[in-house]
Amino acid sequence: MSPKNLYIQTFGCQMNVYDSERLSHLLAARNYRLVEDPAEADLIFLNTCSVRQKPEQKVYSALGRFRGFKKRKPELIIGVGGCVAQQEGEALLRRLPYLDFVLGTKELGRINELLDDLETSGKRGVATALNGRVDPYASLPFFPSSSKATAFVSIMQGCDNFCSFCIVPFVRGREVSRPFEDILEEIRALAAQGVKEVTLLGQNVNSYGNRRPGNLGFVGLLEAVQRTGGIERIRFTTSHPKDLSPSLVEAFATLSKLCEHIHLPLQSGSNRILKRMNRGYSREEYLQKVLELRRVCPEISITTDMIVGFPGEEEVDFRATLEMIEKVRFDDLFSFKYSDRPHTRAALLADKVPEEISRRRLMELQAWQRESTSQKNKIWEGREVEVLVEGQSKTCALENMGRTRTNRIVNFPGKIHPPGSLVRVRIEKAMAHSLRGEASL
Ligand code: SF4
Repeated sequence: MSPKNLYIQTFGCQMNVYDSERLSHLLAARNYRLVEDPAEADLIFLNTCSVRQKPEQKVYSALGRFRGFKKRKPELIIGVGGCVAQQEGEALLRRLPYLDFVLGTKELGRINELLDDLETSGKRGVATALNGRVDPYASLPFFPSSSKATAFVSIMQGCDNFCSFCIVPFVRGREVSRPFEDILEEIRALAAQGVKEVTLLGQNVNSYGNRRPGNLGFVGLLEAVQRTGGIERIRFTTSHPKDLSPSLVEAFATLSKLCEHIHLPLQSGSNRILKRMNRGYSREEYLQKVLELRRVCPEISITTDMIVGFPGEEEVDFRATLEMIEKVRFDDLFSFKYSDRPHTRAALLADKVPEEISRRRLMELQAWQRESTSQKNKIWEGREVEVLVEGQSKTCALENMGRTRTNRIVNFPGKIHPPGSLVRVRIEKAMAHSLRGEASL
């Protein structure tokens, strides 16, 4: 049987990247191989994100484009997975007659059933059960396969926090942790294939194992990964500030493979807005955690997420957010304009911030952060750092591209090193989003 072509477009977070990899692994058993050009595809799968309005709109415009492909090639199968699939379910099939199936966030394992139905009877299908606290990966065949130096490993799914702006608990379900041994088995197999760096993924990794009696918890998991031969670097994301425990802070001092970087979403610098967001911490508590992290690990890189224009945000609240950027000096910051999301409590709040005010605040905040990022990057000029090579530079095939332990991209010329090499590099110049250097002799 000749192979069939699979094109996957992934939107949004690293969790979706991981799920797309697992889906392509499942479909490889059905003789599908990945292609980079959707025009060549027999099956197009969109793994979607609905955490904000913008990525959701991008999904619909991509679907509009693929509709044209189907007109030219009627046997083309188009499926939607991820958060938009979970959020819209059957309504997507009703609205988009050219769509063949909808696959929810916890139903990856049912892809074969949906494709069997399509192939045998032409039946379009929907699989969007959230399945309570069931581990969605437990029923899938053993993964991984990786040809890269770095890999994502999902350690949990869902969230119990219900921040008032966030759709995740409604589209990823309640929090469920994968079994400790399943995760370690996956990481050992990745290491055997040459992976040097793993990023452990979860909506709130700090609460890993909370509902698994006898589980060693997140720090216990990090310690076990630290003992895994072949793995040189460990990262994780995302950590909720309210749950950042003293033992996790200490891990940055005691675990040599744990990279000096933490993504710690602040979302707002105003206590009044943090309360309305149901974040469970104050700006003072956040600052205290930053101090503790820098006490045990002075070079730690701290990145964050920030929302501007949350309902009821006044100028004074926004100024408090800018003040936090000034105080913390984040290494980088991902900023977004608030948008209503279905099911969330914030969507019901009346005092929405006008679009032009949100836009102006976003631009101002980004300008502040550019300044901070540039100063933070400059600190590295003249210093020697360890870089894990990930491949060739995107802009020049004659240069290596890798990352520092603090998660900065470094491009450097000279001998091309195979992915996975750890190279000492002397940083010569800090750019806006990366560093340039020369390999040390
Ligand atoms: S912690 Fe809050 S923002 Fe993060 S996934 Fe859970 S509900 Fe959403």
